[in-house]
Amino acid sequence: MEAAVELNQFRLYYQPQNEVISNKVVKLEALIRWIHPLKGIIYPDNFIPYLERNGLITKVGAWVIDQGCCQLRRWIDKGITDVVLSVNVSAHQFKLDDFVDTVITSLEKYNIPAHQLELELTEGVAVADVDKTIKKMQAINKLGVLIALDDFGTGYSSLAYLKFFPIHTLKIDKSFTDGLPSDGYDTAIVKTTMVMAYHLGLTVVAEGVESIEQLEFLKKQGCQLYQGYLFSPPLEQEKIEKILLEDLR
Ligand code: C2E
Ligand code: CA
Ligand code: CA
Repeated sequence: MEAAVELNQFRLYYQPQNEVISNKVVKLEALIRWIHPLKGIIYPDNFIPYLERNGLITKVGAWVIDQGCCQLRRWIDKGITDVVLSVNVSAHQFKLDDFVDTVITSLEKYNIPAHQLELELTEGVAVADVDKTIKKMQAINKLGVLIALDDFGTGYSSLAYLKFFPIHTLKIDKSFTDGLPSDGYDTAIVKTTMVMAYHLGLTVVAEGVESIEQLEFLKKQGCQLYQGYLFSPPLEQEKIEKILLEDLR
């Protein structure tokens, strides 16, 4: 694993987030892959927990933000000027004292408008020190960088966080999308989330959308964005670029 870090065997893949109404790609989520010389593509669930345990996540996490901003700059230079890049941030990484500086460094290095970067945080960021977390989120918010709450509904006391955190986006976890449009429990959770988000002025992204039926249900509920295999899985930079350039035409 240390060797993977040193040899830079990581790559970012990008998955579109589309407007439900227009189907236009408005955001991209950066998702890390480990390209192992012998085993091929290894998915993040199989190595992120290890990186978190041994502290390497801070180095890799900083690389993800830097690499994402670097790629975004290349796209902006090709005329793809209005796409937002969403980057996953692990709780360990967020807790570092210099986390906000890492973000500022990458924004400045590639001259990225702050509103084109979004950080996907989970409720786990608040476990240790809520006050510190709120201050850090406010600093990020002040920069103009967007904040999304990832895996919404899977942690505990999500509602308490919503009141204090300066967030822009809620991501409905795939585990809830899976049951749409038939499961009574999942439909109730999604409907309730939509009503609440509306009143709080938050944008909602449904994750893991795989069928037209799921999308139709989300449209009826007023969900703004969706992400999932129905439109596209995470893809390498070249393939995503093709989709983005086609959207421009
Ligand atoms: P996540 O943030 O909840 O990301 C969404 C996951 O759902 C991704 O898995 C994505 O490929 C998958 N997905 C999206 N649409 C569909 C769909 O329609 N069907 C199905 N079956 N799956 C779908 P992936 O890429 O394997 O990432 C897993 C998790 O690893 C992510 O969950 C995130 O928590 C973490 N992760 C990925 N990249 C990074 C990173 O750069 N930094 C950190 N700290 N964590 C990352
Ligand atoms: Ca995410
Ligand atoms: Ca999720």
